[in-house]
Amino acid sequence: MSSSLTTYRKKRNFKKTKEPAGKKRVSSKRLKFVIQQHAARAMHYDVRLEIGGVMVSWAVPKGPSLNPATKRLAIMTEDHPMEYRTFEGIIPKGEYGAGPVIVWDRGTYKNLRDVSMKASLKAGRIEIFLYGKKVYGAFALVRTSAADAEKSQWLLIKMRDEYAHARKNPVSTQPESVKTGKTIKDWKKKIKEMEKKEK
Ligand code: MN
Repeated sequence: MSSSLTTYRKKRNFKKTKEPAGKKRVSSKRLKFVIQQHAARAMHYDVRLEIGGVMVSWAVPKGPSLNPATKRLAIMTEDHPMEYRTFEGIIPKGEYGAGPVIVWDRGTYKNLRDVSMKASLKAGRIEIFLYGKKVYGAFALVRTSAADAEKSQWLLIKMRDEYAHARKNPVSTQPESVKTGKTIKDWKKKIKEMEKKEK
């Protein structure tokens, strides 16, 4: 079976990681988004938008900014299954993306453009309104590299609206998961305890 989740599955051994194998879904009416903080080799925030029954994904090293003057680099990564948006926990050592993941923010979103999300994605210009707990308001994702492919470079930019803010920075002031209340630090502590037990 070939789908946009093929790359996602190839990179993972589902006997070893608790991440979901997943399958392509029918698109829901209220489009979902998630931002997962992921302490892999380098810390980053995975921004995922439901488009066409999968979670289209970008890795944003510094996380989203509420300041329209601050453009954040976003690198496109492989599509993830819909189920992935609730994944929180530890990707085991030696597996792809090893390290803790938390559901840093989640909610629904609205397409602000009068073309479909798929067309926006292809054109390299997305404008959306995010209804999250920490991230709320209009955002743009703009492709800066030519290729429409995995690893293409984009910028995540807060659009100017009443929810824009020059100083408010939930990335530093609200580190806890909206799912469990745990922080990446809490999960790292747990990893250390598990490693001690193995010795
Ligand atoms: Mn990641």
